[in-house]
Amino acid sequence: MTLQALAPLSGLSPRSQRLAAMRSGELGSVHSWELVTAVDGPGTRLTVFLSGCPLRCLYCHNPDMLEMKDGRPVTAEQILTRIRRYLPVFRATGGGLTLSGGEVLMQPAFAARLLRGAKELGVHTTLDTSGFLGANLTERMLADTDLVLLDVKSGDPDTYRRVTGGELAPTLAFGRRLARSGLPDAGGHGPEVWVRFVLVPGLTDDAENVERVAAYVAELNEIRPDTVTRVEVLPFHQMGRYKWAALGRTYELETTQPPSAELTERVRDQFRTHGLRTY
Ligand code: SF4
Repeated sequence: MTLQALAPLSGLSPRSQRLAAMRSGELGSVHSWELVTAVDGPGTRLTVFLSGCPLRCLYCHNPDMLEMKDGRPVTAEQILTRIRRYLPVFRATGGGLTLSGGEVLMQPAFAARLLRGAKELGVHTTLDTSGFLGANLTERMLADTDLVLLDVKSGDPDTYRRVTGGELAPTLAFGRRLARSGLPDAGGHGPEVWVRFVLVPGLTDDAENVERVAAYVAELNEIRPDTVTRVEVLPFHQMGRYKWAALGRTYELETTQPPSAELTERVRDQFRTHGLRTY
């Protein structure tokens, strides 16, 4: 589809048309998409990686997705056409659409169209986010989201800043909003949440830091029982290292080793102690 067909706004330059289409959510900046199974939500999923992220995590394994300008312009309709093609697969496997990145909520209007379009097709929707831009998620988008993969990168604000370059508070507030959104007086349709915690030796593995994350997740389930149905402790790995080198960027975790099996189990047990189903 051409930009002219997408936004027939006569008198506007191509650049202005493109910006108008991005503001309306007809057009997004997309890095890529892939069909995956057993990750990013239940069943077989179309995971769409949106470009742009306000954080700069030291361990980011998608450093090529951090700038919105580096993505490809893709229309929401192009993605929805693809979703329609995969409907039989989604139905057979209980899968659906996952929006990931980068940070999806950098492009809320585009994400809103994809979530709405997927729900109109009866497709399960998942939003993979750090929650840092949670304020960009409208109530409509919240109602169109079945599952949130919430990355809680640290429980200690200083560690969070060191890991991501950003503040922890917006993520905490976003998770609480997700929990409360499912209470009867808020409509009772809150999304399910899976919390993800990346375990990096020497960076996020401090027992007190982990304890804070675990206590926070338990708090979400106190607000609304069964908000968080799964915690995933993701052992740090070096598989993204080559991307940093290819981009010519300094990778501070060059010599960091993946956590040992013992450390990973210790951290998982810290979550389990709070009654959380943890993998
Ligand atoms: S939030 Fe995700 S995409 Fe953004 S810098 Fe961190 S790991 Fe990378």
